[in-house]
Amino acid sequence: MEDVSIPIGPAPGGSERKRGSDHRSEPPLRSIKMEDYLAIIRVVLTFPPELAELPITYHLVKDFDLSLNILKAKIVPGEEGKLVLELANGEEERIMAGLEFIRSQGVLVEPVSKEITLKEEECIHCGACTAVCTPKALSLDPASAELRFDREQCIVCELCVKACPMRVIKVTF
Ligand code: SF4
Ligand code: SF4
Repeated sequence: MEDVSIPIGPAPGGSERKRGSDHRSEPPLRSIKMEDYLAIIRVVLTFPPELAELPITYHLVKDFDLSLNILKAKIVPGEEGKLVLELANGEEERIMAGLEFIRSQGVLVEPVSKEITLKEEECIHCGACTAVCTPKALSLDPASAELRFDREQCIVCELCVKACPMRVIKVTF
C-alpha cells in the first residue's frame, strides 16, 4: 500500500507540510507498519467546505499520538472534502479519542466499509459520471469510448451516483 502524506489545512505554528512544497528537511508523517501496532482503524472523513482548513492530521499526530496513512484525499477549497485515513496506535482508546475530537469539530467520520458498485451491463457509456469524478476513478476509454472504473482511485464521494441518468451506480456497505 502506498503511503501518501497530504496535510489538511495549515498546522498551528505552520509546521505542517503543503502539497508540492519542498519538504526534504521536514520529518515525514509516520507510516503505519502493521506489526508495530495493536490497533489500526480505517475511516472516511467528510469535511464541510467551511472546515477545509482544519488541521486534522496535525491534531491526530500531535495531540493523540496517532500514526497515519492517508490512503486517499480530495480537498478542494470551498468544496466538501473527503479523506480516507488509516489510524494506528498501541491503544484503540487513543484512536477513538482522536476520532471523537474530529467529530466534535463537525467532521463526519464513517468506517471504510462503503464501496461503489457499477452494473456494467446497463451502462450506456454516456460519460456523465466521469464529469463529476475528480479522482478520475471513472473515465471513458479513448479507443473504445467505453466506461472504465479504477476502483483504486475511488474515494467513495458518491457524486457519480446522482450523476448517472441510468442509475446503475450504487453505494454498497
Ligand atoms: S464515488 Fe464515484 S465520483 Fe466519487 S470517486 Fe468514486 S467513482 Fe468517482
Ligand atoms: S453516467 Fe451511468 S450510464 Fe453514463 S457512463 Fe456513467 S455509469 Fe454509464
